[in-house]
Amino acid sequence: MAVKIDYNKCINCKICYERCPEGLFGLNEQGQVIVKYPTECWLCGACQMDCPKDAVKVIYEANAKPFFLKRDDKE
Ligand code: SF4
Ligand code: SF4
Repeated sequence: MAVKIDYNKCINCKICYERCPEGLFGLNEQGQVIVKYPTECWLCGACQMDCPKDAVKVIYEANAKPFFLKRDDKE
């Protein structure tokens, strides 16, 4: 299990950084979002669902599925 950012797509909007309930994302010295703790993901799916550029991928084992909770608060 891991979380990865595709930097060819990422626009550094920091939505994933702000929304991860576990605080797994961080910023490097240049202010760029990084995945600081890639293996501690809870599989809530928020980062992948909310990334406007489809740049975050939550990679999980075949026998584990993200929760990807449905929400009514689409902006
Ligand atoms: S939400 Fe997507 S585009 Fe925004 S900083 Fe995270 S990975 Fe990059
Ligand atoms: S799936 Fe949830 S817990 Fe995992 S990195 Fe994304 S926002 Fe954080």
